[in-house]
Formats: sequence, C-alpha cells, structure tokens
Amino acid sequence: MQQIFGPDGLIAKVHPEYEHRPGQIDMAAAVLRAFEQKQHLIVEAGTGTGKTLAYLVPAIAAACGNGARVVISTGTKNLQEQLMDKDIPFLQETLPAKFRAAVMKGRNNYACLHRIKRAESMPVLEGLDQIDQFDEVFRWVAKTETGDRAELSNLPENLPFWRHIDARSDTCLGQQCPDFDPCFITRMRQRAIDADVIVVNHHLFFADLALRNGAYGAVLPDYAAVILDEAHQIEDVASEYFGSQVSNYQLDDLLRDAGYLKIEDRETERELTRVSARIQRFADQFWISFREGRGLEGRFTLTPRTAQVDNLHSDQDEQDDAQAEMSANRRQDAGAPYNALDKALNRLETTLAILKDPSTDAENILRRVRQLRFDLNFIVKAEDKQFVYWLERRGRGVFLRASPIDVSGLLQDKLFEKVPTVILTSATLSSAGNFRFIRERLGVDKGEEMIAESIFDFHEQAVLYLPPKMPDPRSPEWGRAAADEVIKIVNATAGRAFVLSTSNAGMNEMFERVASQIDYPCFVQGSASKGALLKKFRETPNSVLFATSSFWQGVDVRGEQLSCVIIDKLPFAVPSDPIIAARQRYIEEQGGSSFYEYSVPQAIISLKQGLGRLIRSTTDRGVLAVLDPRLRTKMYGQTFLQSLPPCRITSNPDDLVRFFTDEVSSFRFQVSGSSK
Ligand code: SF4
Repeated sequence: MQQIFGPDGLIAKVHPEYEHRPGQIDMAAAVLRAFEQKQHLIVEAGTGTGKTLAYLVPAIAAACGNGARVVISTGTKNLQEQLMDKDIPFLQETLPAKFRAAVMKGRNNYACLHRIKRAESMPVLEGLDQIDQFDEVFRWVAKTETGDRAELSNLPENLPFWRHIDARSDTCLGQQCPDFDPCFITRMRQRAIDADVIVVNHHLFFADLALRNGAYGAVLPDYAAVILDEAHQIEDVASEYFGSQVSNYQLDDLLRDAGYLKIEDRETERELTRVSARIQRFADQFWISFREGRGLEGRFTLTPRTAQVDNLHSDQDEQDDAQAEMSANRRQDAGAPYNALDKALNRLETTLAILKDPSTDAENILRRVRQLRFDLNFIVKAEDKQFVYWLERRGRGVFLRASPIDVSGLLQDKLFEKVPTVILTSATLSSAGNFRFIRERLGVDKGEEMIAESIFDFHEQAVLYLPPKMPDPRSPEWGRAAADEVIKIVNATAGRAFVLSTSNAGMNEMFERVASQIDYPCFVQGSASKGALLKKFRETPNSVLFATSSFWQGVDVRGEQLSCVIIDKLPFAVPSDPIIAARQRYIEEQGGSSFYEYSVPQAIISLKQGLGRLIRSTTDRGVLAVLDPRLRTKMYGQTFLQSLPPCRITSNPDDLVRFFTDEVSSFRFQVSGSSK
C-alpha cells in the first residue's frame, strides 16, 4: 500500500497535490488484510482520512487478483457520485490493473418497457402537462441506453405517472416478460455481471439481500465481498427491507393493473369488475379506519393483537433520559374493515387462480394478491413479538409496516455468515472510543476493527463552544436563552453558520427568534429544496442556514463559508418514534439500559456527524457550539466529550472572535476527546 499511497507512491506521482496520510495507509492495509484473510472489518475513518481510496485500492486488487466481485454500498447520492465520477475514473487511469466498474440504482429509478407499452394504450395520465411529459419519456425510452430516469433532467423530479411505468420488483414479470432481453434491468444486471466493482446504495443492497433467495426482484450478481460505507445508517435501512409493508398506493396499483387484464371469458371478466369494485369500497373503509382522528403526517405505533392505533405526534422534541411516555389519544379498531377487505381480496385471488391459461400479467397479479394478503394479515394480526407494527402517513399515502426490532440476527444469517468479507466504514461508528454499540446493533461479533487517524489537526482547527449558563432544554426559558446564544455566536463568527435543530418545531422557533435580530442573510430548511438552499448558502457571503437532521449528514461545504455549526440539543432519537420505542423497550426487556446502551451511543454518533460538517479540509477552521447544558451537567456528558475529536473547549464568546483572528494562544482552552 506504501507503493500506492506513500509520499513517492503511484498516486503522489500522478497527483502532485496529493497529501500523504498515514491513517489512509493504515486503513488500506487493514482492508487488504480483511480481503486476504476473508474476514470482516469495522473502520471508523473521520473526514480527512481519504477513506474511499483506502478501500477502493485493496478492493480492486482483490477483485482483479481473485476474480472476486466487490460490491460497494453507500448511504448518500453524493458519495455514490464521488465514487463513480471521481475516485473510480481516477484509479482506472492511475492503477496498472485494469478493472471494470458499474453502478446500479434502485429498480424504481429505471423505466419498465412492459409497463410503458401498456401505459401507451391505457390511461395513466391526468392533464395536458402529463401528456407532454409522457411523450417526452416515450421518445427518451426509444433511445436511452440505461433507462435511468436521472437522464430526464428537464422533467420534474416527482413525475406523477412515473410509479406506473417504473421497473419496481412487484410488478416485474421476470423471465416471462416479452421484453426481458431489452429490459433496462436485464441490461443493468449484465453490466454488473461484467464488472469487478459494483457501486450501489444501501436501499438497493438491502432490498436485494432481503430477496436473495426469492424468485423475483433480486438484481445483484453474486459477490465475494461488500464494503458498506456510511455504515452508521444500515440498521435503519436493513429494518426497512427485512420487514413487511402494505400501502394504499400498492392496493390502488393492484386494482389498476387488474383492470388492464385481457380476459376472454365474459363471465370471468364481469366477476373481475365486480370484485375489483368491492375491494375498492372495502379498501376505502380500511384506510379511513387508520386515517380518522389523525390530521398529521407522521409515524404511529400499531398496538399488537387488536390492530389498534396509538396516535402519536410525530414531531415531538427529543426528551430527556427517560423514555417518553406513549400517549394513546384515540384508538381505532381495524378488525372489521380488515376482514371485509381480506374477504374481497380472497375472492380476487380465487377468480385469478382458476383462470385457464392465465397470461403472465394475470399470474403477476395473482402473486401480488397473495403477497398482499399475507403481508396485511401479518401486520394487522401483529402477533410476532420480534416485530414492531406501525403506520406512517405521508401526503396522501398510508403505509402499514412491520419492522424487525432487532436486525442483528438477520444480518448475521443473511450477510455476515454468507459473505466472506464485509467491511463496515463511516466517519462515525464508534462512541467513547469503542465499537460495542455498532457491533451489537448489527450483529458483528467477528472481525477486526480500527479507528483510522485523520489528517486534520482538530486541536488547531476546531473549537467547541459550550455556553456557560443555559437552562434545562425542557424548560420554557430554554428557547429564548438558546436564541440569545445563537445571536451572540453568529455575531462572533460573522454568520457563516449552520444552526441545526433536533426538530422542525425547534428549527422554526429558532429561525423566528433569531433571523430578525442579526444582520446576516438567513435561510431556513423547507423554503427551497436542499440542493437549492446549499447553493444559496455557498454563494451568499456570511449567511446563516437553519435546518434539521437532514443537513447533519452528506453535506459538504468547504472553506470559510461554513465556519460554525451550532447544535441546539443533544441529538437523542425521538423516543416516541415506533421503531426507536420498540428498540428501547426490547433492550429493557433483556435487562439492559436503553438509555446508556442505545440512546447515548446513537446520539454521540449523530453529534459527530454534525461536527463532520465543519472541518472538511486541512485549512478549514471552525466552531462547534452545543447549546445543551447536559453536556456539562450530566454524567453521560463526559462520554460525549470523550467521543469528539480532541478540540479545545471554551465558554467565553470573546474567544470565538479571537479564534478567527488567530489570537489562539492568548486564551486557555480545555481539551476534549480521548486522545491527541
Ligand atoms: S422484465 Fe420486468 S422490469 Fe423488465 S421490462 Fe419486463 S416487466 Fe419490466
């Protein structure tokens, strides 16, 4: 690895500005060892390590040397683009070994030729705009090589009819499809089969892993190793795909597709129309039973056995150490509407099952009805104690879900025991200097671990500001005091700040209180798309951006423009969220402490993500301000401080001004972090 990453190595020769990073060489050597010894590895590689090259080079060596295909899975689009547009082309030019790489996105990014042909003759469009847009899609499909909708950059991102023509797995006819050979999924898969390295995102990876032994939907070719980057996200993604889900959209799509079936026998055709109308009627009642009394969007727990719903506000502020009390304001019994709907679906199943010489489309619908009945039954009965049953309302959608409470056993069975080498990496995986939390949550009981050294000098480059006196974050005085601190801090840093809140309500309140009191341009999340807001922030000198958790990850603003990150409260996961509550309850039932074993390490990882926005290069300098007094007043506050990189700590806002005018030696700081 020295010959490639060392001061006189291959990369330095091609790239004169390439910085020698000992942490990168150590990480590359550990990844290579994991490939050679066929074992798993966990690596925390903070910003400034150069982690993507550190795993790509040994992955390519292993893929070319042993013909062992490697999958790299990412959590964000930014990282996927960095790999495909920058790092991999660079290594293809630089390394002597020739290798092929392919990118695979989730199936619903691609157009389905079969559904597009059918949509041409069947109406899926509403309004003239959609007719023009569909024409454009239709012309594009005739000439595109990939069928990837990202190529349709001049059409809106949320094309209303896209879900009727995309290549999602449940509507796919598989090898029986008349368009199987030219199908974009078939072609994508073929490109992946020919590749040594495949880049995917976590959603595709875990969707594929969940389906791997099934007949439909799995798309990834076999692989000998996988690198899961941004691995701090995978517990949540895995629990999404190892569970079950039924939505009102899914039922609507099923009925729409059933309506497209060409049935020769008149009586069967009439029966199909009758039963579809019945399903529609009972489905409406069924979904109403979940909507009633709930005007808000959000996630709500479904109570086991009775299929009742606890109505929980989705946007509560995080609460303190104690698990939040679950409020059950209204209850709706889904039993009767469910029984009526299931009976109607059963009739559809029977009608389709006795068709003579059914078409592949009819077989597909039969398969979907069976699966839907199975999933509905599983969720509504809610009998398996290993799962949490919950409901999500989003826009016009109602999603019923069952998610495994603990994915560690599933990941062990399906991933860590099946794939010889799994590398888990991220800028934030450890808490208090160890990987106990991530190992337990994901079921990684074997393999090496390491924390790669960052090239950044946090002691010189960063300051942690903790206000000297702050009220309890749950007290009524907290909002005013926090806003006063934000005003003080952004005046000291001349704007150039992210103000990150743990809830939407907190963000809006902070924006209202602060924006009119400071002389710097202010932006708030929700006023434009994330990309547009980031562009404005980068281009507007001394601006201040108010945002929530979606800006804590995968956001890259280099240089002076982002010189300060202010975090309002310690980012504990919302304890009223159905999945979080179920995980916490599960830990308590096992005799553990959900607060110390789950809430604290999870919040530490989130806080480190926030800090990761601040220092993006060796020349960046910045202030991390945490307004939550618990960092100082609670015992666990020490664990947070020990988990941060070793930066200096101050409680004097004047120090912040001096920090930016380089008078750093004229004031005394404490030092956080476990080592330096
Ligand atoms: S194989 Fe599946 S995804 Fe491909 S065109 Fe046919 S139905 Fe669509």
